[in-house]
Order: sequence, then structure tokens, then C-alpha cells
Amino acid sequence: MVAVDTDSVEEPDIDELDIAPDDGWNALYVDGEWAPAGDRDVIEVENPATRSTLTTVPSATEADVDDAYEVAAEAQAAWADRPPQERAGIVNRVVSLIDEYADDLATLFAVECGGVGLKAGFETELAQGTIEVGAGLAMRRTGRHQESVTPGKENIVVREPAGVVGVITPWNFPLYLTSRVVAPAIALGNSVVLKPDENTPITGGLALAALFEEAGLPDGVFNVVPGYGHTIGDHFSGHPVPSVMSFTGSSEVGRGVGQRAIGEYTEPALELGGNNAHIVLSDADLERAVDAGAFGSFTHQGQECISINRHLVHESLYDDYVAGLADRAEQLPIGDPLEEGNIVGPVINESQRDKIVGFVEESVAQGATVEAGGDHDGLFVEPTVLSGVTNDMPTACNEHFGPVAPVIPFESDAEAVELANDTEYGLSGSVHSSDVSRARDVADDLETGMVHINDQPLNDEPHVPFGGVGASGIGRYNDEQILETLTELKWISVQREPREYPY
Ligand code: NAD
Repeated sequence: MVAVDTDSVEEPDIDELDIAPDDGWNALYVDGEWAPAGDRDVIEVENPATRSTLTTVPSATEADVDDAYEVAAEAQAAWADRPPQERAGIVNRVVSLIDEYADDLATLFAVECGGVGLKAGFETELAQGTIEVGAGLAMRRTGRHQESVTPGKENIVVREPAGVVGVITPWNFPLYLTSRVVAPAIALGNSVVLKPDENTPITGGLALAALFEEAGLPDGVFNVVPGYGHTIGDHFSGHPVPSVMSFTGSSEVGRGVGQRAIGEYTEPALELGGNNAHIVLSDADLERAVDAGAFGSFTHQGQECISINRHLVHESLYDDYVAGLADRAEQLPIGDPLEEGNIVGPVINESQRDKIVGFVEESVAQGATVEAGGDHDGLFVEPTVLSGVTNDMPTACNEHFGPVAPVIPFESDAEAVELANDTEYGLSGSVHSSDVSRARDVADDLETGMVHINDQPLNDEPHVPFGGVGASGIGRYNDEQILETLTELKWISVQREPREYPY
């Protein structure tokens, strides 16, 4: 691989961006205060393209988590009492502020997450969409009247905010994945404590806190405690204060988070990993299938829960599909995300890179052939296409989370379904065919929460249910689904006439 030049781009001082708090990002955000690290350990925020340290943020302690939950619990009732138009108004103001700071956010997405300009655009749009829909939920905290089986009784079902919501998010689409819970939670009258990922404490949390602060959110309603999963994660997710524990991340960590939450009678909402199949049936339009396959595999270096993890291609199209995809992979510009025009940036850190590269090497050792890519420089991993792959090879049976496209042949639609379903995950998928009803039959048989026909799995719309089955999670996000998660129904009955008791 040609060495990636990152020297030609000047690295910004992110503590000086307009969106940054006065003293820079070196702070926790609790009760409306930016508390500096003091004698706490710090997290070094690294630019994955250049590997230089951009800034440091405090590594929150268990005591910080306790403080944040206490503050959130105290602030919640008064916030829930504010009129819905006021709650919606503050949340909606964040949408406009995202426009105002769009350039700063794009810079942060590039240097903190390794996201190229295209990804910054997607993430900004997704964040604004989810915040807008979330704000609208403030007006939809509706209950109902229900007939009673008891004479003279009136049944009223009221919908209340859940209370304090704990939120843990990953690094891949940090602003969006955080916003899709924080915005609806706040609009519905909850308070929030957020632990962003240690790789992206700024775009995953502190930047959103700065936006909500500027939008006029009362102190204590939204609190951010950046910290390592291995130091405060168990304490955060097994805490007695929150009523809902929203977790987006790996299935392995999510299982433990869910168990700890349930141990405290806290409702878990889990959005976890995926092993999504892109299925190309024998009658598919090859060019469309290849275009979709490239986009679904290589966007943001394949680091999305809904990225294509495996390409399943009918044997009659297999060779042409592999050649087409390899051609596309080789043409993708790779380089510093701050440089305009690049499509492939760095992966997030060394351990992710080593995992991806290891899966490729092991698959090749087991008989796969590298048709494109296969090399890396620093954290830049070439878009890689592998042929001759079987479903049990490491790039196929694991969620590789990298710019890697293992292509597996199949003989019949039934075999494609069997291969696709042969995983503990069940998040998303896609099916290509020129016969939509044939594709529908396959889609019906896929054990996933989402399937896209004649497209690829990377789809998320703020008003459509998002989520998976099996090891991909519990519950659905977006619109009325997240409203259900973030509220509780309460039955209040009024006995309007004296009731006849049996004794
Ligand atoms: P991860 O599970 O390692 O980390 C996610 C978050 O969990 C981070 O904030 C981390 O600090 C925290 N954490 C780690 N240990 C913890 C513990 N013991 N207790 C509580 N929190 C802890 O995930 P990752 O590798 O950073 O992210 C990628 C994963 O996230 C992939 O599996 C991907 O598919 C998944 N993901 C899912 C969705 C979805 O909507 N389904 C979206 C994006 C990413």
C-alpha cells in the first residue's frame, strides 16, 4: 500500500473551536458546570489519522457518576413540569445550533472519529433528524381513557417520563447515536446522565452538552461523565438511580450492561452488534448490486453496526460481482479525513485495526483470496475484497467492523437465507433481485430487525423503527418506539359511585 500522507494537512486546535467551552474540552459536565480534571486521571483524545493527541478530558470516577445521577434525579421533576412547548423549543434549538456549528462539528468528526466529509454530512443530517423528531415527542406524551369493567369507575391512563435515563454510546457515529436517545429523553421530561465512549468523548457527549447549554436547558437535566468502560462502566450501568439504561455498543458488553440494569430493576434498551448479509439473487441487476455493496461495505471504513459484513452472491454472478466490487474498492480515495475528496479514512484505534487485519489474515490462511486491498498503513486499512470465502471464516462469522468485503457464493435462494441466518446476530440486511416479490420472500425469511430490498443495509430514518433481534439487541429506537421506552404508563382510576364489595 502507498503510504498515506497526513503531513500536508494542518491539524486544528480543537480547544479553540467556537463550539468549545471557554477553557477547552478538559472538563466533565455535571449540574451545568464544566468541572476541570483536577486530580482525576485524563483520557487522551487521539486523532486516528495522525495519532497525535488533540486534547485531554477528565476520566470520570465512580463518585462522579454518583454525583451526576444525584443531580439528574434532583433536576428531573421540575423539568418534567415545564410545558411541552418549552421542552420541545429547547431541544429544537439544538437543531439550529448544529447548523451554526456545522463546520466545527465536521472538523471534530474528522479529527476525533476519522470521519471523512461525506460521513460528517450523514452524521449531521442523522443527528438533526433524530433531534427534530425527538423534540416533537414532547407534544405526544399522551395517555387515554379506558372503559371499566367495574360499574361507576373511570379509568385514566397517564403517560409519565421514565425518570433518569442512563446512556452509554459507542464511537462510530457518536453525536448521532447519543442524540437519538438524549433528545427524546429530554423532550419527554426525563433527565439524562451520559457516558460517551472513551475514543470520542467530545463528539459523543461534551459537544452535545455545549449545544444544550447554549440552547438554554436548565442545569442538571443533561450531565456528561466521560470515562473508560472498564473503570466506571459496571458502576454506571448497575446504578440504582436510573429508570432506563440505554446502551449502544457491542453485544458482549451489552449483555453485561443489560444484566446489571435488570439487577437494579432498570429497563434496558440495547442496540448491539450485527453481521449483516447483502444477498445478490441470480436475477439481480449486477451493477446496482455492486454499487450498493461497495457503499454498504466501505462507508466510514465499514464501522457501522448496519454495515455489510458478508456479501452472499449467486454462483452465476459470483465472478463478475467479485471483479466489480474489487474494481470499486481499488478506486476509493484513502487519506486524511480533513482532506476534501477522501472516501476512506482511518479506523478508530489500534485494537480495532489489529482485529480487522487479523480476521483478514486468518481468512486468507483458511483459503480466501485477496482480490483488492489487504494492506494497511498506520490506522488506514485498505478497502479489501476477499473471494473464496465460506461462512465459517473469521471475516464472515465475526462482526469484523472494518472496510472488508468477504464474498460467499450460494446455489439457491433457500441456501442464501440459511447462510444469512447462520449467525447469533439479527440486525439488518439487503436483498437484490429484479423480482420484488421474490426478494420479499427472502426478506420475510431473514431473521433480522431490518431488511432493505435493492439497496444495502445502511439505512436509518428518524421516524422508522430501528433495531435488531437475537444478539443485536432488545427494543427499538426512533419516534414512537423510543417514546414507549422513555415513558411509563400509570393507571389512575376514579370510583365515581359507591362500589358494592362482596363483604
Ligand atoms: P463497546 O461495547 O466496546 O463500547 C461501547 C460503549 O460501552 C463505550 O462507551 C464503552 O466505554 C462502554 N463500555 C465498555 N465496557 C463497559 C462496561 N463494562 N459497562 C458499561 N459500559 C461499558 O463497543 P464498540 O466496540 O466501541 O462499538 C462498536 C459496537 O457497537 C459494534 O458491535 C457495533 O455493531 C455496535 N453498534 C451498534 C449500533 C446499533 O444501533 N445497534 C450502533 C452503533 C454501534
